[in-house]
Amino acid sequence: MTRRRDAILREMGLAPLWRLRGAAEEVEEPAVQPPAATLEAPPPRAPELPRTQAAPAGAPRRPVGAPPAPQPVLVAPPEPGPAPGADVSGLGWDELEARIRGCEACGLCRRRKQAVPGVGDREADWLFVGEGPGAEEDERGEPFVGQAGRLLDAMLATIGLQRGHDVYIANAVKCRPPNNRTPEADELAACFPYLRRQIELIKPRLIVALGRPAAQALLNQEVKISAARGRTFRYGDIPVVVTYHPAYLLRNQPDKAKAWEDLCFARKTMRALRDEA
Ligand code: URA
Repeated sequence: MTRRRDAILREMGLAPLWRLRGAAEEVEEPAVQPPAATLEAPPPRAPELPRTQAAPAGAPRRPVGAPPAPQPVLVAPPEPGPAPGADVSGLGWDELEARIRGCEACGLCRRRKQAVPGVGDREADWLFVGEGPGAEEDERGEPFVGQAGRLLDAMLATIGLQRGHDVYIANAVKCRPPNNRTPEADELAACFPYLRRQIELIKPRLIVALGRPAAQALLNQEVKISAARGRTFRYGDIPVVVTYHPAYLLRNQPDKAKAWEDLCFARKTMRALRDEA
């Protein structure tokens, strides 16, 4: 492992975990099977998230002796996303971003400095979806540029990703909720058409939902991150995996280890999707 990666892992609070991974008593038992175990056998499904679609029969091929690839598709909501608000179907990037910047579809517009549409590679395979802009994002008009954003960048680096390179970053709501409160359901619903259109334009191979509001907005169902980790959901045809929000991880450092597992699971899922293509 390179010194740079060591430094990144230390920043994520993970370096000690590497050294202690063999000592079971030092590692918190995950709420669901960790991704490594998931690769061997899919974990039991939580009762509140009923299986609506089985994994396709044509699972990706793998060489004899290689570990099984993650199941690309396990759970699908009946319809992606909440009910539509603004009609932005058919818009291109420039018009879409202009509509987001001028949006008044919910009360969040009243206290924003500026809306934050999203940033990155518009043809990315990876789409990361956060909750909503914070103070620094509201100032600068770019998602994840504050402390949580720095952690997100470090998390991306551990799986070989970099903001803007095959990665697009967006939020479930495009305007800052006052005092960084969790967005309300009606705000998520009003903003969802923008995210839906972004997804249509980007056509990512995989979506990573960062935290519960993003997961719920995408999957249109109640989600408990601890129960949903290590599983593959669907937004339409696109696989979705969930993990903790970086701001949560800043307050709950031990869970960074779980987020690392989730990102490794996401990376394995992406590899399987690419092999399949
Ligand atoms: N948290 C988010 O969910 N999004 C941001 O852009 C910044 C912090």
